[in-house]
Amino acid sequence: MKKLIAGNWKMNGSLADTGRLIQEIVADSLGDSTLSGKCDLLVCPPFVHLAAARVTLGGSLMLGAQDCSVHDSGAYTGDISASMLKDAGCGYVILGHSERREHHGEKSELVAAKAVRAHAHGLITIICVGEKEQEREQGNEQKVVERQLKASIPPCADAKNTIIAYEPVWAIGTGKTATPADVKAMHAFIRLKMKEQLADSENMRILYGGSMKPENAKELLATANVDGGLIGGASLNAGQFLAIAKAA
Ligand code: PEP
Repeated sequence: MKKLIAGNWKMNGSLADTGRLIQEIVADSLGDSTLSGKCDLLVCPPFVHLAAARVTLGGSLMLGAQDCSVHDSGAYTGDISASMLKDAGCGYVILGHSERREHHGEKSELVAAKAVRAHAHGLITIICVGEKEQEREQGNEQKVVERQLKASIPPCADAKNTIIAYEPVWAIGTGKTATPADVKAMHAFIRLKMKEQLADSENMRILYGGSMKPENAKELLATANVDGGLIGGASLNAGQFLAIAKAA
């Protein structure tokens, strides 16, 4: 399976910063024979920069958003619908990121409902799951992830419209990374659970996310059932983002 390296830019950067970052990524990745055709690259800038990002990307990288509304249109002040994202040139949308679960109280059931809307408008969803530090310390990481998978992934999900991102919350933006052994165990567990839940699950991409950097990417991305990475901090630097892609 071709690996996917996805950058989650979160709430960072001005319009000019976004344009510069995309130009750097495009310039350095085009014509790099170690990258071309070997892995898929996706960037997920803030909503307000999507339209400009689409122009700068010029079709050479894929574009995604960091969330979408559960509603299609109407009186939902501040919301952005899946159809608007599609219209803005997005092919992907991240859903259920731990920062949305934590700061916006998003529950797995809402994540699943958003995924249904996203799929209806032809977007591929990247659905995030992952345990908190205390849950891992108590040995409950698989229980937590299983519960999130069951409730966050709608029955309409398949390997074409859905990607899972395993992101241990304690590893996001902290510099702490799960060990390759922990990642291997959890990704095998997710693959097994997806097999129980969905039809063509063996082709579903499972990404790892949590302080992935050029220094640890090779080992993490070589781990069984790791089909790519969801990258936060390191994706804001073109050199680091592409070094991770090269490791893939
Ligand atoms: C993320 O927010 O999805 C993420 C993985 O962040 P970081 O790489 O900074 O840990």
